Amino acid sequence: MINMTNFSDRELLHYITCDDADEMADLFAEARQVRQRHYEKDVYFRGLVEFTNYCQNDCLYCGLRRSNTAIGRYRLNREEILDCCRVGDSLGFKTFVLQGGEDPFYTDDMLESIVRAIRVEFPDHAITLSIGERTQESYRRLFSAGANRYLLRHETANEAHYKKMHPPSMSLANRKACLFALKKMGYQTGAGFMTGSPFQTPQCLLEDLRFLQELQPEMVGIGPFIPQSDTPFASYPQGSLNLTLRMVALTRLLLPNSLIPATTALGTIDPQGRELGLMAGANVVMPNLSPQEKRKLYALYDNKICTGDEAAECIRCMRLRITSFGFVPNMGRGDYRK
Ligand code: SAH
Ligand code: SF4
Repeated sequence: MINMTNFSDRELLHYITCDDADEMADLFAEARQVRQRHYEKDVYFRGLVEFTNYCQNDCLYCGLRRSNTAIGRYRLNREEILDCCRVGDSLGFKTFVLQGGEDPFYTDDMLESIVRAIRVEFPDHAITLSIGERTQESYRRLFSAGANRYLLRHETANEAHYKKMHPPSMSLANRKACLFALKKMGYQTGAGFMTGSPFQTPQCLLEDLRFLQELQPEMVGIGPFIPQSDTPFASYPQGSLNLTLRMVALTRLLLPNSLIPATTALGTIDPQGRELGLMAGANVVMPNLSPQEKRKLYALYDNKICTGDEAAECIRCMRLRITSFGFVPNMGRGDYRK
């Protein structure tokens, strides 16, 4: 039995770097048990709407970065976003995740009107935003308009590492300040990071876990770094499956009731990546509700899976994957359980 409450730095580093198959299996089994204690075998569905691939930022790892001129850009208007939500609702989704690059085209007024329209049409659904760093005033207005949750990965909690992955205009301090502000305002808040990103060390990952313990986010997104061919990090290797699974499991042990997605990136580096993520303690999946013809353009990284499938087909496939590993698909809101 792994003592989960009081991991020392040394113990955490041991698991971060562990490559012993038996020890890893024990770690994943422990993480599954902890997940089960809080959420049984349920796996929650979130409908993802990627509504803009324009971005004012220039994160060195991301295909949506503003310096990438090789990509065709698109935006969805309010009605198109609502249509995605309607399709999602008809398929049974109770959570919509609106994600995009940091796109100043969408002013606070516009976003407020979009969130309000979704809230009016779907009074009982959870509305999650994932649109990067904004002002506190903006976060507050969107919360008042009806948003409930916010995903903003911290990306790395190590200052020097953050600087190597982002342009000088961006700062870890602001990223963290946004996360604490969102949490304080009442959003269910999601942080997270990539595994195997360029220049990452085990010490960085230890700091990621310690930051999660400090922030106590309700959700944590963890996925492997995957190179995108039109970025400065095109030739760096992708993050490994096992490292990602170990970080999912450790996060589950440190934040027992968190909601952790088995990410699309995990499914991209291994055909069974998402299922293995669930087996390591994850309990959320995020099928895509974006218009089919736009999916390929939301190219955060290369070879992204599920860009050709219809939403209904994605759900059918996810259900099969989930049940074949002994888990139970749950289309409910899947709020955080204290
Ligand atoms: N613009 C928003 C949301 C969209 S990006 C934001 O940055 O918060 C969503 C996530 O995609 C990022 O947080 C990042 O962790 C992930 N991502 C970007 N590029 C990636 C890559 N090359 N490999 C894996 N994940 C990537
Ligand atoms: Fe923009 Fe987000 Fe990509 Fe950074 S990670 S370039 S903020 S879309």
